[in-house]
Amino acid sequence: MIENMELEVPYEIPADSFNPVEPFLRMDRMPHIWCPGCGIGTTVNCFTRALINSKANLDKVAIVSGIGCTGRVAGYARLDSFHTTHGRAIPFATGLKLANPELQVVVYSGDGDLFAIGGNHFIHAARRNVDIKVVCVNNMIYAMTGGQTAPTTPEDAVTATTPYGTFEPSFNLVQLAEAAGASYVARWTTYHVKQMARSMNEVLNRRGFCFIEVLSPCPTLYQRRNKLGDGLETMKYYKEASKIRNGAPTSEVGLSKQGEIIVGKFVDRERPGYYDMLRAHHKAKLAERYQEPEVTCS
Ligand code: SF4
Repeated sequence: MIENMELEVPYEIPADSFNPVEPFLRMDRMPHIWCPGCGIGTTVNCFTRALINSKANLDKVAIVSGIGCTGRVAGYARLDSFHTTHGRAIPFATGLKLANPELQVVVYSGDGDLFAIGGNHFIHAARRNVDIKVVCVNNMIYAMTGGQTAPTTPEDAVTATTPYGTFEPSFNLVQLAEAAGASYVARWTTYHVKQMARSMNEVLNRRGFCFIEVLSPCPTLYQRRNKLGDGLETMKYYKEASKIRNGAPTSEVGLSKQGEIIVGKFVDRERPGYYDMLRAHHKAKLAERYQEPEVTCS
């Protein structure tokens, strides 16, 4: 599906490389740990295409992951990579960006990591409009730890901790991101490889807190327990159930188990960034201090 993408390759591709994404991966770490039919590898392929097309200076791109199956991405990407503790990828990335504002910092993690343990960090980084890009691979479950219910598990879905079906309402991640203040919000599935790569390219070229949700199958734990077939069946479901509605109100695009999936770019707005606000504030306070009239004693 991605063969038709227009590729501009500003990097030297080794003559013995059969795949243009290879130079962006730590091939000495292959084979990867992901199961057959898992969608995480597809997202990595799109991300490397976005790195190629955005002509990003790879010496200035850092990738930060939390814990989980998606958390392994940082270990496979041939970038400055940080595999951090559970739920803490965003505060780590925030520190990295503030310490070195020239860096392009990408957080790459799963729904359990970013929205359960890491949920608090997510909303505050979005509120502050910290200039980081967050890619969330949403397989609607805690995968690596055995398939427990996550904040994104849809109602009625069977998981390791809800064998009779989940009864809690789940988060609509794109609505949460918009409400918290994200500058850019999009959702794709692993079927939408061109659109996903384009969104990733777009966020690599813009400032502000950017959020891309990618729905991805976990055939080993989610699809199997819910009798939804393998990874290919899920791709067919994504293809048939998805509708592209760019600009759709995020409050109307919640997900359900096997229901309609609205994908697209929902939010693209300018807001003052955290670093710029911080600098402006300090500058104003310094100016105030040095304009204070001198106190003289008579
Ligand atoms: S357990 Fe699920 S999410 Fe993890 S690698 Fe396997 S299929 Fe992918």
